[in-house]
Amino acid sequence: MNIFNRNKTLKPTKAQKDGKRKELSQFAQHTLATLGSGSMLQAVKLPRGEDVNEWLAVNTTDFFNEISMLYGTISEYCSNASCPVMSAGECRYLWADKKTTKPVECSAPEYVDNLMSWVESQLNDETVFPIKFDSSYPKKFKEICSTIYKRFFRVYAHIYHAHFKQIQTLGADAHLNTCFKHFMYFVLEFKLVDSKELTPLQELIDSMMGQDKQKLMSQGGSAAAAGAGAGASAAAAASSPVAGGEDDACVVKNN
Ligand code: ZN
Repeated sequence: MNIFNRNKTLKPTKAQKDGKRKELSQFAQHTLATLGSGSMLQAVKLPRGEDVNEWLAVNTTDFFNEISMLYGTISEYCSNASCPVMSAGECRYLWADKKTTKPVECSAPEYVDNLMSWVESQLNDETVFPIKFDSSYPKKFKEICSTIYKRFFRVYAHIYHAHFKQIQTLGADAHLNTCFKHFMYFVLEFKLVDSKELTPLQELIDSMMGQDKQKLMSQGGSAAAAGAGAGASAAAAASSPVAGGEDDACVVKNN
C-alpha cells in the first residue's frame, strides 16, 4: 500500500474516543486481516458480548478514516472542473443540511467536503457519539448512523463511477474493492441503507457479494440478533426524505 504512505486524507484521522473502543477497533482490523476478504460475513458480525451501538460507533469512525483516505488519494483529480456536479452514473446528488432551505446542486469536491464535515461534526458531538464506552446512546442513534452510511455510500459511488481509472493507475483498485466490500457487508448486516440507494453500484455489489447478499438481506443480521430491533425502521428512515432532520436527493437524469 505504498501509495497511501503519502498520508493524504481529506479530513484529519479521527481517533477512537475511548481505550475500549480502540481495542474493539483493533479487534475488527485483526479479524479482517486474519480472515481475509473471503470471510466478510464473519468479520462484520457483532462480537459476542459487545453492545451493538458501540460496535456501530467504532466502525463508523473507522469507515470515516478509510473513506477520507480513499477520497484523499484521488482528490487532486476530483475538481470543480472535472466533476461540476456530484454524480454516480445516472444518479445526481443534491446537498442539504440544516443551513440550506432546499437541496442544492454542488460540485463533487464541494459535496464530499460538506458530507465529510457533516459526519465529522456528528462524530464530535458527544450527545450522538458519547465519549465514554458503554454510555447510553441517543434514541435516534441508528437513524443517524443510517444517514451517515447512506452518505458514505455516495462517496464510494462517485469514486467508482468517475475515478476508477485513476484509482487503477495508482494501483489502488484492489484496496478500494476490499474497503468497499467490507463496507457493504457491514451495511447489509446492520440494515443501514435502503436498497434503492444502492442502485448506482448494484452490479458491482452483486458480483462482489454473490449469494452472501441474499443471506444478509433475508437474515435479521446482528442488529436484530442483538435486540436492537431497529433494522427495518432504520432502513425506512434511510429512505425517508427527512432522515436525521436533513435532506438530500438523488435525481436521475432523463436521458
Ligand atoms: Zn470527482
